[in-house]
Amino acid sequence: MKQVFTIILLSLCGMTSAQAQTQIIAHRGYWDKLGSAQNSLSSLENAIKFGAYGSELDVWLTKDGVVVLNHDDNYQGVVIQTATCEELSALRLANDEPLPTLQQYIDRAKKQSSTKLIVEIKTHATAERDAQAARETARLIDEGGIAGMVDYISFSEHVCKELIRLNPAHRVAYLNGEKSPAVLKAEGYWGLDYAWSVLKEQHPEWIREAKALGLTTNVWTVNNVERMQYFLSQGIDYITTDNPQLLKGLLTVKH
Ligand code: MG
Repeated sequence: MKQVFTIILLSLCGMTSAQAQTQIIAHRGYWDKLGSAQNSLSSLENAIKFGAYGSELDVWLTKDGVVVLNHDDNYQGVVIQTATCEELSALRLANDEPLPTLQQYIDRAKKQSSTKLIVEIKTHATAERDAQAARETARLIDEGGIAGMVDYISFSEHVCKELIRLNPAHRVAYLNGEKSPAVLKAEGYWGLDYAWSVLKEQHPEWIREAKALGLTTNVWTVNNVERMQYFLSQGIDYITTDNPQLLKGLLTVKH
């Protein structure tokens, strides 16, 4: 009986503290395959089939309040924040898909339970638009019933603060790289998600410090073997990569 309780306790600890093994996040989806494109539904489909822990995506709020996917602030010269959803619907990705809406991503994600959405809310023109984007994104995710399958990330403090204010249980990781783990912890963040150069060259102590504080650790965008091996050796929780297959190979060899 005592052994059973110990196993349950260890399982619970595992759910709330650092991952035992580094997990793979497909950057902008698993897009580097024939017929796919960054931030497309196809790239999400590939990430799910691959079995990634997470599929990262970038979202913007359009002028008329629709949350859509795109990395840059414009697509083919059309600025997302000042365009309507209808104007954007005429555009096509490299694989001929329209730019997806977040709702389409939610609808696909909820049909499975193995791959999370790692939702990056982009930095908009004003703090108020950032907060609006955060509120609308969280509303869609909550109403879609997939709150438990979403981690939030952003370079914008306005986005992150609004997400944490809306619900302190939101899992929010900061991208911009200048806040120490102690500051992130004090501000209610779930974790850090920093550039590889920050965590390997500028502050190699931050992974250890973050773990000691109970924060999650994620690094972007790690595409070569040497850097992957470095972060695996540091026991980082998540690696965000354009090359999920390469990382899976290293994890298979390691374990
Ligand atoms: Mg991104």
